Amino acid sequence: MSNTKHKTSKHIHRFIHVGPGWKCANPDCRFFVYDRQATLAILGNSTICWNCGVKFGMDEESIQMEMPQCSDCRNVKYKEIADTVELDSLARMVKNHETQYK
Ligand SMILES: [Zn+2]
Ligand SMILES: [Zn+2]
Repeated sequence: MSNTKHKTSKHIHRFIHVGPGWKCANPDCRFFVYDRQATLAILGNSTICWNCGVKFGMDEESIQMEMPQCSDCRNVKYKEIADTVELDSLARMVKNHETQYK
């Protein structure tokens, strides 16, 4: 009776930020860290980009994201955010202008 299940399926953790810690999104994986020091320990670990599915190493930017993305995807995202912020502040400026002249 050698029915022992090998649950050591090698995979790359797909880190996801939960509260102050991190867990792996793989349902079979019990990886979970919840303190700051452990969070720093996953720096440099391989993970899977939530956007494009490519393997990359956790760095100081991705560790601040809820669902870490590789640097390629981040660059695109930051560009989008920058555009939005610009539009936002423009809209606010216009609004301020309007209220000033009321
Ligand atoms: Zn995992
Ligand atoms: Zn990516």
